[in-house]
Amino acid sequence: MRMLAILLLLFSFSFANLKVVATYPWIGELVKEIGKDRVSIYVIAKGTDDPHFVVPKPSHIAKMRDADLLIMQGASLEVGFLPPLLQQSNNPKIQPGRQGLLDLSEFVKIIEKPVSVSRAMGDVHPEGNPHYQLDPHNIPILAEVIKDKLCQLDEGNCVYYKGNLEDFLRRWDAKLKVWDKGFSKLRSVKVIEYHKLYDYLLSRYGMVLVGTLEPLPGIPPTAKHIESLISQAQGVKFILQDVYHEKRTAEYVAKKLNARMVILPHDVGAVPEANNLFSLFDEILRRLNP
Ligand SMILES: [Zn+2]
Repeated sequence: MRMLAILLLLFSFSFANLKVVATYPWIGELVKEIGKDRVSIYVIAKGTDDPHFVVPKPSHIAKMRDADLLIMQGASLEVGFLPPLLQQSNNPKIQPGRQGLLDLSEFVKIIEKPVSVSRAMGDVHPEGNPHYQLDPHNIPILAEVIKDKLCQLDEGNCVYYKGNLEDFLRRWDAKLKVWDKGFSKLRSVKVIEYHKLYDYLLSRYGMVLVGTLEPLPGIPPTAKHIESLISQAQGVKFILQDVYHEKRTAEYVAKKLNARMVILPHDVGAVPEANNLFSLFDEILRRLNP
């Protein structure tokens, strides 16, 4: 009996303590860096999904029903799929206003906040641009926020989480120097993007956004909008294309403007080379080839 008790005790220490659900892969990766073996992580969206339009599944509800913590990107990015999942999960711990729901958008500066909002026009960015993970300088801020939350929910492992955070920040800071240097060579380069997906990266490194293939975030390109964009755009070097929209419009515009279409990952797993948070930014830089 005593042996069994010892075994049970050992098991309770080696098993993950906190069950975390993250909406997107990059959030899951960050939780993994801080929580390591003391948390279990389930990620709802795939890196290849359009982050605005993730398809809700019963398996998501089952994982959310069991979760101690749900971490979301916020700023309306999940508004199309998360509220019904939350409701059906029937888990009081992770509902809005509770300790078990963490909205990361509350901790970074959201850009492009509209003066007046009309979702009726179809704009999927009613609270401003939600794609803030693509400024690599936002990541350390959010790593700290996640450490604080894990400490709040699991005090017993707080020293462990703090140690992991310090180790992560050390490695991230070293890479930030490399990225800052690499991306600085792209300063003043003019780009067009399909969706307003890379704006945080562009604004961090001084690249110039000339226009988007979408007339409004979430509205597919129209012939009229594309012709007007082509007639007004000059000196554009790159058409930034995500992995989940059609590529024909970008190819057409690139040809017309003598620019280069570049497919960029926006999240971990969007392309095979971007298999963690570090390689996500390495790969974006490599594809822009400064
Ligand atoms: Zn968007």
